[in-house]
Amino acid sequence: THDIHVIGGGLAGSEAAWQLAEAGHKVRLSEMRGSGENTPAHHTDHLAELVCSNSFRSDDAESNAVGLIHQEMRALGSLILREGDRHKVPAGSALAVDRDGFSAGVTAALEAHPNITIVRERIDALPDGPAIIATGPLTAPGLSEAIASETGKDALAFFDAIAPIVHRDTIDMDKAWFQSRYNKGDGTDYINCPLTREQYDAFVEGLLAGEKSVPREWENVPYFEGCMPIEVMAERGRETLRYGPMKGVGLDQPGTATEEHPQGRWPYACVQLRQDNAAGTLWNIVGFQTKLKHAEQVRLFRTIPGLEKAEFARLGGLHRNTFLRSPELLDPELRLKSRPNVRFAGQITGCEGYVESAAVGLLAGRFAAAELSGGAMTPPPVETALGALINHITGAAVAETYQPMNVNFGLFPPIEGRTKKADRKKMYTDRARAALAKWMAA
Ligand code: FAD
Repeated sequence: THDIHVIGGGLAGSEAAWQLAEAGHKVRLSEMRGSGENTPAHHTDHLAELVCSNSFRSDDAESNAVGLIHQEMRALGSLILREGDRHKVPAGSALAVDRDGFSAGVTAALEAHPNITIVRERIDALPDGPAIIATGPLTAPGLSEAIASETGKDALAFFDAIAPIVHRDTIDMDKAWFQSRYNKGDGTDYINCPLTREQYDAFVEGLLAGEKSVPREWENVPYFEGCMPIEVMAERGRETLRYGPMKGVGLDQPGTATEEHPQGRWPYACVQLRQDNAAGTLWNIVGFQTKLKHAEQVRLFRTIPGLEKAEFARLGGLHRNTFLRSPELLDPELRLKSRPNVRFAGQITGCEGYVESAAVGLLAGRFAAAELSGGAMTPPPVETALGALINHITGAAVAETYQPMNVNFGLFPPIEGRTKKADRKKMYTDRARAALAKWMAA
């Protein structure tokens, strides 16, 4: 017997179960790994496994929104942050963890909790509730289907397409140049690689002929708007890319100036790269998400003038990312409007990242705990990082174009009045700390 069913023992489900158990409620925590099931990304049976990097990103609570949310989660007794801090490894101002120690620590804490029963089982149907679904971006197909039939297929997205990233020092700047289209913005925002008509045609041919890698079960799944693979665009027509991510308009190619066009001519087509990291060492190819095989990508992208010797930090790809159109489907307490006995938490709500997933798990656990105790918890104020994130997920974001979101100051109400840019971040975090303290006291 249990008071509430938490489905999925990842970052969000582990945190939600912990918050509920600490509040005195009996939790059944169902995790399919360990029952002979797995996801395409997990490697162990540990709860809260980190599937990729070992970083919880910045731990700077004065000037960074992720650092701030760490601080807020610690204040609310987060298990994920407690174990993260215990298993910290050196990483400058970031919080990075020993991944095995961390997830073993989370697993041990949950196993030892008298209010938690961990069951290694796969759940295929929507529970009647009370429940929290925290099955993540790789939710098993049976449950995804059950969710899609409850919410409508359009309200559940299945894929993310990612564009390749190039090492800046491998771009040939004798052929490529810095410029923003129509000189809008900073002159160093984009690197441009021009293509002649012949080069463009050959490139499109290459895309159409190139070998794709798509697991069969994903073949007929629609792409997100704005996230269409370039080879799918190329299939729509020879000119489609030239009016899309390979537009040449507004870009003055050096060395092509004439009397009539003293700035230079626009290339027939152009590939743009945009800075991808703060150091400016990595640049992503704008709009170039693709499901071409990796070797094919390298071969084809090196036919682009300027990228002949490009080295890739990451190649394009498609990965599953199951998430709800939350702004339309969830209420401010993360309850499914059509079935308020069921809450959602973690990446499946459309937050993005380990920390954000755990943060939404923490809130779902606390909302549910308050409800089980016969009360209700007011959501944290939007001036806090937790409040800004959940406000975005449950209503502030535009439902139609909703995409996974990291916590950032853009989600907070703006600081009024004129302020120096350098002071602004501190103003956000100071305001957040005051708001959190007031909310916690209430
Ligand atoms: P998860 O941590 O995935 O937990 C969901 C759990 O539910 C899993 O344990 C799964 O086994 C279980 N489950 C699924 N379906 C069922 C079912 N039907 N019944 C029972 N159990 C089920 N974020 C970062 O911050 N840094 C990264 O480097 C990073 N890399 C990523 C790489 C990949 C390939 C993916 C897909 C995502 C990555 N993310 C990363 C994004 C995201 O933050 C993580 O996926 C994070 O683990 C999400 O937390 P979660 O709790 O929502 O889901």
